[in-house]
Amino acid sequence: MRLDQIAALAQPNDTKVLLYVLDGLGGLPREPGGPTELEAANTPHLDELARAGTCGLHHPVAPGITPGSGPGHLALFGYDPLVYETGRGVLEALGIEFPLEPGDIAVRANFCTLDAAGNITDRRAGRIPTAEAAPLAEMLDEIWVEGAGCFVRHVKEHRFILVLRPEAATGPNVDDTDPGRTGEPPLRARPRDEESEPTAWLLDTWLEEARRRLADQPHANMTLLRGVSSRPRWPGFQDVFGMKSTAVAAYPMYRGVARLLGMDAHEVADGAASLVPDLRARFDANDFAFLHFKSPDKAGEDGDFDRKVAVLEEADSIIPDLMKAGPDVILVTGDHSTPATMMSHSWHPVPFLIHGGRAQNDEASSFGETACRSGAHGLIRGCELMPLATARAGRLAKFGA
Ligand code: ZN
Repeated sequence: MRLDQIAALAQPNDTKVLLYVLDGLGGLPREPGGPTELEAANTPHLDELARAGTCGLHHPVAPGITPGSGPGHLALFGYDPLVYETGRGVLEALGIEFPLEPGDIAVRANFCTLDAAGNITDRRAGRIPTAEAAPLAEMLDEIWVEGAGCFVRHVKEHRFILVLRPEAATGPNVDDTDPGRTGEPPLRARPRDEESEPTAWLLDTWLEEARRRLADQPHANMTLLRGVSSRPRWPGFQDVFGMKSTAVAAYPMYRGVARLLGMDAHEVADGAASLVPDLRARFDANDFAFLHFKSPDKAGEDGDFDRKVAVLEEADSIIPDLMKAGPDVILVTGDHSTPATMMSHSWHPVPFLIHGGRAQNDEASSFGETACRSGAHGLIRGCELMPLATARAGRLAKFGA
């Protein structure tokens, strides 16, 4: 369904919806026929929610597609990531919580090295350490270009972001200046359409000045730009679902995605227990809360099956406290799978449970990949979860007469 179609059906209610995201939740068995991480974990509270609620599996983006966490979360918020695509520059800016404004152009940038002839010798400036790169980024932050505000923020090692805030609207469709090879000079910023010509001019002007200022630097004497993109003008979460929303997450990228949709986002310490007081403090004033727990993804990326089991048990332990906060509907799922056996995100569908509101019976009596396959919802797309949870909370009106 399109977001404007959902928005037309959204109706007020005094119910509250809680989305609890266990990042990288989905997994795989260590050996064929064995349990996945979630199935191996002792999760009595999640099992009880699954038994009393309804379950299924979801494809965050599409079958066979391995999602990044950004698109994975957009899907959970109800935004089809195949329609609502964020540029790489915007994602990088969200990743450090840069406060992007409408019309901003965000770019991922690298420090690089050029030889005397101006050809690239290292596209990442030897992965220049953060301690050396951060002052260079601060120096570049002082560059001023006529027609746009320019902001430089260091990310990590050779990576930083450049954000342009043009005085007049300009397009984001500009090619990378990184040729992807050494032994060649950096490319000029080339616009792909007329609206983006001023952006290309601004970027080239900025690059000239950056080159001049970095000329005498021993470890990085130029920068390369990639992923030029603009802050999208999307409908806000509250405009679509009619719910005032809050987000609680330890990591900046997730707060950034939430803010992009107009949610009120709050930073907490890492770990499941730290989510509880923040939910209690904010749920009263909101209709919807998103809680983000990062640890399962990290354990999966590290290839540590047992640690992923342990942190899923940690995720389970706060369920009674979350339920005491009084959600009418709780949706528990992940933004993608991160099987420890693969040490990476994967395309495998992700288990979910919805508890609360009116629902059919289903056969899922525990929370796990295999049990969720026999759940009432079957296999759906990630962006279909929010309408389901919203309906369960009595917040969607009839479609058609
Ligand atoms: Zn993730």
